[in-house]
Amino acid sequence: MMTDEHEQPAALRLSKTEFDFIDSLRQRVASTSLKSESLIAGIGDDAAVFRSSAGKETVITADLLVEDVDFRRTTTPPYLLGHKALAVSLSDIAAMGARPLWSLISIGVPEDIWQTDFAERLYDGLLDLANRYGVQLIGGDTSRTNENIVIDSVVAGECSAGTAVMRSSASAGDQIFVTGSLGAAAAGLRLIERGAHLAEKTLGDEDSQKLDHILLHQLRPEPRVGWGIVLGEERLATAMIDLSDGLSSDLNRLCAAGRVGALIDSALLPVDNYVTELCGRRALDPLQLALHGGEDFELLFTVKPEDVSCLPRRVDGVEIKRIGEIINSSEGVKITEGSRTWELKPGGWKHF
Ligand code: ADP
Ligand code: MG
Repeated sequence: MMTDEHEQPAALRLSKTEFDFIDSLRQRVASTSLKSESLIAGIGDDAAVFRSSAGKETVITADLLVEDVDFRRTTTPPYLLGHKALAVSLSDIAAMGARPLWSLISIGVPEDIWQTDFAERLYDGLLDLANRYGVQLIGGDTSRTNENIVIDSVVAGECSAGTAVMRSSASAGDQIFVTGSLGAAAAGLRLIERGAHLAEKTLGDEDSQKLDHILLHQLRPEPRVGWGIVLGEERLATAMIDLSDGLSSDLNRLCAAGRVGALIDSALLPVDNYVTELCGRRALDPLQLALHGGEDFELLFTVKPEDVSCLPRRVDGVEIKRIGEIINSSEGVKITEGSRTWELKPGGWKHF
């Protein structure tokens, strides 16, 4: 049905229009220093157009964030929500060993939220992260929902033909590594659910800084884009997955896909220092959080023994840690703690 602006009630005419919002987005994106030569048409037409490079393959992923399933409006500032919506997709591209290039973001928001600056703040967080990694926003969609906020994030990237790193290609003898540290995102979620929130900037005492560190792992995950590109381009990873559901679940997925087993050593796990320090006092078990807690968005990858010495020590300041080894599938997925060895079952991460 055609809508005639002159027949709309004054309140609607005065309210923020989708057209103005999209136009301001288009202008913001056009004003950033990112100017990709391969982009032919971005925001503003019916669809985006980009040139694919010879010898490259396109890698593409989608993630849906639903209010009260994946985040809570009351505890997630819009800026950080925008960051996270893009971060989870960048993490998937990194886990393929590819370089992220393009972002499409679709948002559904209830009318009352639409009339606030929520969407602008969301894109502040999203575009700051996008600019940091040279990713360009090239489109999306904007609509209304009855109650809950919904954000769909699509990211496309590329890798050299034949170099995408699958989950399924690990072999017995490969060494297992993870980037960064484990457990803080899940600890952050538990603490947020118990009422913890980010400190005001003016508070700077040591304990609230440590608490913020943990909460920000949940609210502002850092995708391992640099590591993904290095591991893919240098063909160092034989298999890779990002840790969205927890080490136990994602390692089991990688092993099932590759029809292999794994033996990891709990003493080698890079449990986040602040989780060890703060969570013991709060009756949260750091090892359980590191093993079964979700949303760390670190990369879990395998490397042939002869390639281990070629791994860089750190990328973008982020270190890696060897945590175990791929074994035959008949031996299962196991973890040692001291002299004991257990089967490591998927932890079954549920957000809320
Ligand atoms: P259409 O009706 O053809 O889908 P829209 O008005 O929805 O047109 O979109 C116009 C342009 O704005 C398109 O290039 C689209 O990709 C872009 N766009 C719309 N909403 C968003 C959004 N939330 N984020 C980024 N780009 C958007
Ligand atoms: Mg549209």
